[in-house]
Amino acid sequence: MKLLLVGHGKMGRLVESLAPEFGFHVAGVIDPHSTRHGGGPDAAEWNGVDVAVDFTQPDVVRENAPVLARRGINLVIGTTGWHRDERAVREAVDAGGVGAVVAPNFSTGVVLFEAMVAHAAALMAPQQEFGAFVHEAHHAAKKDAPSGTGLLLKRAMEQAGFERHIDVSSTRAGFIPGVHTVGFDGPAETITLTHTARDRTGFARGALAAAKWVVGRRGWFTMKDVLGLNS
Ligand code: NAD
Repeated sequence: MKLLLVGHGKMGRLVESLAPEFGFHVAGVIDPHSTRHGGGPDAAEWNGVDVAVDFTQPDVVRENAPVLARRGINLVIGTTGWHRDERAVREAVDAGGVGAVVAPNFSTGVVLFEAMVAHAAALMAPQQEFGAFVHEAHHAAKKDAPSGTGLLLKRAMEQAGFERHIDVSSTRAGFIPGVHTVGFDGPAETITLTHTARDRTGFARGALAAAKWVVGRRGWFTMKDVLGLNS
């Protein structure tokens, strides 16, 4: 199967190095800032590509993803902070008859963490004295804050029935791959649940598993679908 890398930064290069383990041949790279740049999303080079994996920047997804989807290339989008453009990308995915897996966090642990956090939020919802928070910490170069995963966790808590305010805060420092803590704080006690990413390979492996899974599917999916948690 042929894989196209959209973005050849830290994540794109990691996906490239692990791609053969997942049965993928890397057909090329779209990244105007890389020496490997092989052309824009409409280049003839990408004929026959099965799936494109996007790890770029928030303002870049709308440039590439709709064009690739309309020409029949499945999408895996790991870039965060671009959701104001979601409608345009969804329309292109429908029009192209392809599949897209979109996830702010591709690590298996985080997908399961989200389910645990939702369960905890449902248990804490009736305990009116408890307030709640989400804190996330990432490396200094991360562009969006709060993280897509932090927002996902907050939404999961709200959807589980936690209706009180949830304070969300961020730290950007050093090289932290990603730490997410959900806390419930009562008059005399605190409960915290923490997920810590030790390195970035978990994200890259999850994205490649999603890429393999999405080929031959049509529609808009998350990592819950890939891991079979929605069935
Ligand atoms: P990075 O800055 O190392 O790489 C981004 C790359 O995008 C750069 O190489 C840059 O040249 C390239 N780029 C810029 N303009 C482009 C364009 N027009 N077309 C194609 N490429 C372009 O960042 P990173 O650490 O690789 O992270 C990328 C994104 O992935 C961020 O949004 C980050 O938050 C997200 N991320 C998601 C997960 C996940 O599991 N979903 C994990 C890690 C990072």
